[in-house]
Amino acid sequence: MSESKNRKLKRLRKKHIWPSVVGLMIFGLISFLIIFSNMSTLIAYFVMTDMINDFDRAQSLATVCANEYAKSKSWEQAAECIMVGSGTDASAAIIDGEGNFVAGYGKPTFDASRSFRENISESFGEKAYVELSLMLDTENGDSVFEGIENDDVDFGEIVSRAAAQGFIIGSSDENVSNIFTYYYWIGFPIEGTDNRLLVRDDIVLRNRDIIMVMTICIIVGGLLIIPCIFLLANVIRDVVSIGKVRKLIYTDPVTGGHNWLYLEHNCGIIKKLRPKTNGKAASEQPAPAKRLENRPAMVNFTMRKYRSYCSCHGVAEGEALLERIDVLLKSHLRKNEISAHYSEAEFALVLIGKTPEEIQQRVHDITAKITTALGHAHLIFHSGIYFADGGENDIAADAAQMYNYAASAKNSIRECENSASALFNKELLNQQLWEHRVEACMDEALANEEFEVYLQPKYEPTTGTLRGAEALIRWISPTDGFVSPGRFIPIFERNGFITKIDDYMISHVAAQQAKWISEGKKVVPVSVNVSRAHFTQADLAEHIRDLVDAYGVPHSVIEIELTESAFFDDKGALLSTVNKLKAYGFEISMDDFGAGYSSLNSLKDLPLDVLKLDAEFFRGNNSGNRGEVVVSEAIKLAKSLDMRIVAEGVEKKEQVDFLAKHGCDMIQGFYFAKPMPIPDFEQKHWSGSNADGGSVFEAAAR
Ligand code: C2E
Ligand code: CA
Ligand code: CA
Repeated sequence: MSESKNRKLKRLRKKHIWPSVVGLMIFGLISFLIIFSNMSTLIAYFVMTDMINDFDRAQSLATVCANEYAKSKSWEQAAECIMVGSGTDASAAIIDGEGNFVAGYGKPTFDASRSFRENISESFGEKAYVELSLMLDTENGDSVFEGIENDDVDFGEIVSRAAAQGFIIGSSDENVSNIFTYYYWIGFPIEGTDNRLLVRDDIVLRNRDIIMVMTICIIVGGLLIIPCIFLLANVIRDVVSIGKVRKLIYTDPVTGGHNWLYLEHNCGIIKKLRPKTNGKAASEQPAPAKRLENRPAMVNFTMRKYRSYCSCHGVAEGEALLERIDVLLKSHLRKNEISAHYSEAEFALVLIGKTPEEIQQRVHDITAKITTALGHAHLIFHSGIYFADGGENDIAADAAQMYNYAASAKNSIRECENSASALFNKELLNQQLWEHRVEACMDEALANEEFEVYLQPKYEPTTGTLRGAEALIRWISPTDGFVSPGRFIPIFERNGFITKIDDYMISHVAAQQAKWISEGKKVVPVSVNVSRAHFTQADLAEHIRDLVDAYGVPHSVIEIELTESAFFDDKGALLSTVNKLKAYGFEISMDDFGAGYSSLNSLKDLPLDVLKLDAEFFRGNNSGNRGEVVVSEAIKLAKSLDMRIVAEGVEKKEQVDFLAKHGCDMIQGFYFAKPMPIPDFEQKHWSGSNADGGSVFEAAAR
């Protein structure tokens, strides 16, 4: 899938979810901040009001204290005066410049030798000490209420000293009728002296204050909750709709199971299990681990002849079959493995295994189980396997490419009547790349006459006289140099371009014969291969005749070679074409006789002139009796059918002798000559002492 398409799909999957969630989060946060700031502002307002009152009171007490001391010069009296003046349950203490207790409420109060802490505890009780310590941080001596200090008051210093005397932080649960009551001390310098007055006071949050705060917060919160609910509903709706979209995107419309997109977006296991060495040259890769690791493999699992199945049983039945295959495939998967329907009758599987062979065995087992479960013994499944082990064959960049290579491996399986599987390897890819290149430039190559006619002579075995030749094509490519037909003829046969090649060869051979005849050469029949694909052309005989006639040569100098496999196509059409060609005066030979399927039956029906024994008869160690019996009987058969016989692929002298003894008419093989360019052929047969190469008229007379 293209990158842009993939991006669009991903966007569709995630559509709307983030804006809604982020909107909800931002709005929630803002609401929280509004409520919190309301609450804290109100509480701070109450606290500050209370503290300002406390502060004013303490300041006036310090003034009272200073006045009293100025009058009486007695700190005890000053303290008593404050007590009377304060008229509350507040506590107060006068301390000197070092922080030592001087006077306070509750006489006889403090023993000057005791520490401030002990004095406070003793005079005001342990609770008062604890309360006093509330305002202190023993760690650093800072006042918790430093912020409300009078500029003239070095409260921090007092606190520091108090801290030095060992105060700790504590709290009071006094006055539980209020929601919060915190006691603290405020210090003020007593004017005209070095002493300071410490006044205990409290911060109180009353129930009614809190109720008011809560009421305001609830009202504000209530107003904010409506848009919050709306946004939340939006998020829920998006989540539901995204779930639906995902299901739609990932569900295959035919099988109802997962589709390729699902596999592509959920195959993280491939990345996880694939070694990081991918893409490096084999020599760069580290030595294989001793213990084999689990690796991912992509499988293209295809049911063959699905369209024929649909033609026989109906499309609905075909789709039901695919649905069952999908379910069965899924049931044979292990943890982390994935299956998906790709297209038509193709499924993609991500399997996990230690070796390609292990995966192949599993594919084989799965295929067997599925075939059995479906109860259709005649169903055929072909599978291609791409094993991602980081080795030299692991060249795919992503899952899509892995699948593509797996499909290539599958396509390399020949059409057969059994289920089969094939492993991907780089040679396969090279072959496909080559095929691609050939197809891209074949038209241009033909137009540029890059194809050349080579001739391989056929000789009479007893005399060695030239009796004929076969025209064989060669490709002299400007980019790839000399290319033998084995590398491009099968490609042309698959893509149909072979018909153009056949025409090209017939025309060139006819042109060459015309030239030789005009030069007075004793020409021999030259056979041209006409491919099986060409026989589907209804007017093939007329077409060949016209091609040859364009050069005005007698038809007898052109022989048509039909490969044995052509005899398995439409026999009626073949017979009609052969009869017409013969009527026009062309000789017809059956090529590769004895290779592959037996064509004895064709011999019975078709009036052919020449039988070409396949080269396989003369390969390897065929000198044993059985091989010789077959060859000699084939020669006898040809003779009794009044056909001439040519032995192809003859490389050894004893083979020539054997064939001569049994009356073989012609030999075409490396023993005598390899296929050669036309100038070499001319040189070999029509120059100097070899000027008498034999003539077609002699051949026709035989
Ligand atoms: P073929 O028609 O059976 O051609 C005979 C092949 O056997 C030729 O291979 C030839 O070079 C080879 N041969 C002949 N004698 C010997 C021998 O003693 N030893 C060995 N090892 N090989 C020998 P070539 O030229 O490579 O052609 C291969 C095939 O390509 C041909 O098989 C034919 O099927 C196809 N082909 C070649 N040229 C044409 C053409 O112009 N048109 C068509 N349609 N097919 C062609
Ligand atoms: Ca041939
Ligand atoms: Ca042949």
